[in-house]
Amino acid sequence: MIVILKQNPNRAQLENLIDWLQSKGIQIHTSVGLTHTILGLVGDTSQLDIDLISALDIVEGVRRIQEPYKNANRKFHPNDTVIEVGNTRIGGGELTVMAGPCSVETEEQVVTVAKAVKASGATLLRGGAFKPRTSPYSFQGLGADGLKLLSLAKKETGLPIVSEVMDVSQLPLFDDVDVIQVGARNMQNFNLLKELGSQKKPVMIKRGLSSTYEELLMSAEYVMSEGNENVILCERGIRTFETYTRNILDLASVPILHQLSHLPVIVDPSHATGKSGLVPPMALAAIAAGADGLLIEVHNDPACALCDGPQSLKPEAFDKLAKKMFALHDFLKDAED
Ligand code: PEP
Ligand code: MN
Repeated sequence: MIVILKQNPNRAQLENLIDWLQSKGIQIHTSVGLTHTILGLVGDTSQLDIDLISALDIVEGVRRIQEPYKNANRKFHPNDTVIEVGNTRIGGGELTVMAGPCSVETEEQVVTVAKAVKASGATLLRGGAFKPRTSPYSFQGLGADGLKLLSLAKKETGLPIVSEVMDVSQLPLFDDVDVIQVGARNMQNFNLLKELGSQKKPVMIKRGLSSTYEELLMSAEYVMSEGNENVILCERGIRTFETYTRNILDLASVPILHQLSHLPVIVDPSHATGKSGLVPPMALAAIAAGADGLLIEVHNDPACALCDGPQSLKPEAFDKLAKKMFALHDFLKDAED
C-alpha cells in the first residue's frame, strides 16, 4: 500500500501517522519527490482501514499495490535509484560500463585487461573468481586467489570491481569487492539473497535463464526486504527454442523493468549472444533501449581464454565499441534535453 501525502504535511500529524502504522507492525519507506512525498507501507496492510487513512488532513490518496514486489516497485519509489560505487554512479542517466574477463586467470591477464578497459572508459572491472560452470570438469575459477588478483588490478587502475558470489560461505572473502554479482543460476538462491540483504554492498542480480520479470523483481525484493536497497538488475538473455545464439537477448526487458521498478538495469550482451561479433550491435541496441549500463567480457587473448573466449572482445574491439557507446549515450541524452 502507498500513502501519498499532501504538499508540506503538518509534521506532528505525520509523526502520529507513522507511529500508529509502526505500532501495527508496518514498515515504512519514505520517498521524497519533487512535489509529493510517498509513504510505502510493507507488512500486513490488510488490517488497515483505507478510508480512515484517506480521510486524514495530510493525506492526498491511498493505493493498494497489487504486485507482490513492494520495495522494488516503481509505485513505491517513483524516482530512479542511483547507486554510488567508488566515484561512479549506477543509474539515474549515467552510463555504467562493467568490463573485464569472464574469469580471472593470471595476474598478467587481469591487470592487462583492467588497464585496457579503463583506458577505454570502463567504470567498473568485472572478473569471475568463483565460476558456475555447467560441467564439473571445466575450469571452476581461481576462488580466493582470483579475488586477490582482482584486488591487485583494482589497486593498479582504481576501478571498482564486480565479481560473482556462488555461496554464502564465500562472502567473507568479498571484502574488497565493490559490487557483488548473483549469477543467473543463483537468482533464486533465497538464502544467499537474504544474506546479501543483510549487508550494505550493492548487489547485481542476473536474470535466471527461464525467469520472468516478476521472478527477477521478487529476487530483488529478497535482498531489499532485509534492508539492502542497493540492487541492480541485469538482463543476460533467456532460453528459447533458438540455438544459434547462446541465449536470446530480451531487450524489451529494459523498458519493462524500468516501468515496473526504480532499480538500475544493466544489459550483458556477452552471455546473451555468446558470440563476440554480436556483442557490439547488441550493446548499442541496449543503450538505445535505455539501459543504465553494460556488462561486457573482454580478454587479451580470447582464443586461449579458460572460459567464454568465443564471446569475449579483444581490448581493441572493446575500445572501438566503447567510443560508440559513449557517443550514442551522449546523443540520446542531448536529444532528451
Ligand atoms: C558471468 O557473468 O560470468 C556469468 C556466469 O554470468 P551468468 O550468471 O549470466 O551466466
Ligand atoms: Mn562468462
